[in-house]
Amino acid sequence: MDKCYNIERMLKYFSADYVLPISSPPIRNGVVAIDQDGVIKGVYNSDEAPIEAEVRKLSGVLVPGFINGHCHLELSYLKGHVPEKQGLVDFLLYVMRHRNPTAGEEEIEKAMKKADEMMYNNGIQAVGDHVNTALSANIKEKSKIQYHTFVEIIGLQEEVVGQKIDEAKEIEFYFDHLHSSITLHAPYSCSKSMLTAFKKSVSERNIISIHNQESEEENILFRYAKGDFIRFYKEIGVDISHFKPQARASLQYFLPYLPSTNRVILVHNTYTTVKDIDFALRTRRNVALCICPKANLYIEDTLPRLSVINHGADIIIGTDSLASNDTLDILEELKVLHRHYPELDFVKTMQWATLNGAKALGMGDQLGSLEVGKTPGLVLLKNMKQLHLTEDVKVERIV
Ligand SMILES: [Zn+2]
Repeated sequence: MDKCYNIERMLKYFSADYVLPISSPPIRNGVVAIDQDGVIKGVYNSDEAPIEAEVRKLSGVLVPGFINGHCHLELSYLKGHVPEKQGLVDFLLYVMRHRNPTAGEEEIEKAMKKADEMMYNNGIQAVGDHVNTALSANIKEKSKIQYHTFVEIIGLQEEVVGQKIDEAKEIEFYFDHLHSSITLHAPYSCSKSMLTAFKKSVSERNIISIHNQESEEENILFRYAKGDFIRFYKEIGVDISHFKPQARASLQYFLPYLPSTNRVILVHNTYTTVKDIDFALRTRRNVALCICPKANLYIEDTLPRLSVINHGADIIIGTDSLASNDTLDILEELKVLHRHYPELDFVKTMQWATLNGAKALGMGDQLGSLEVGKTPGLVLLKNMKQLHLTEDVKVERIV
């Protein structure tokens, strides 16, 4: 038995009705070779696999592991607690008032661990996760999932700008330094001086992930200095009497304040218009739109417009947290999108759910597509109708 043959035996071969490499067209009856470390060693047409290979035939569509572009692991303990379809302001107020569960850190940790395992079993390979504390650091270190942690900055008061940035950097220190950054929570939770100070305090490598236009009230706030956010500030005791109407939609107000060369993930975009996207694309920034369909239905009972999704910006898919979702499952997010927008093409939405997300999180060289040398995970979608997603489709992690 020669050495070469030995190496060949250590590889596992899987075939399925279709293999979706994502970086290249679907292969009918394709074959994937993967080694014991999860490294892709070959992607073949049905007649190209080495003849000595023992191929395990699977029924369904083989895809790389999903990328969850947006989550808050820390909020997992709020599953089933927050009333649905109340609008963003009441959602935020509820979460702020219930931020500390009665059972404390132990309850938060237990819920995070369960959520992490749920995501892995649902075929998720990497997650962009927002935090306000270092509580998730241990779980992330031990997890089979690769996380990029975004430490959120919330800063409405002028006097605490520098302090808030320092605090975020201290929390960031607890996480994988190659896959963490500090970020702004949302335009409505950061003052103008915070936006300016943030720009000066981050390097080019710092990926930004910011909640954007999740509610029409956010646009009303920046356009007219009116609406439900005025009630929000009153209830949390923040004086914004100095705030002037900006006469433009939220995104057009805050985007110019962000550092121009950093990668930016805009999360939700539920009330973003085609005009806003044109504005963002004209700035030639590296911008991705993260769509979280189930959370949008949970909070605002609506979805981003199809014209916005199809307007040429990179799309990625997120689950948001269990505070606004009953599961952390990218396949379920895709089902919602396809149910509401039947004209969407599955091969395209799979790219949003895998390679686009990996690139946005700075993991595109390792994850998101079945390409030789990558370690993207291997996921089987069962009960597919050719390359069409139906409600019956189930996910099974193969590698
Ligand atoms: Zn969020």
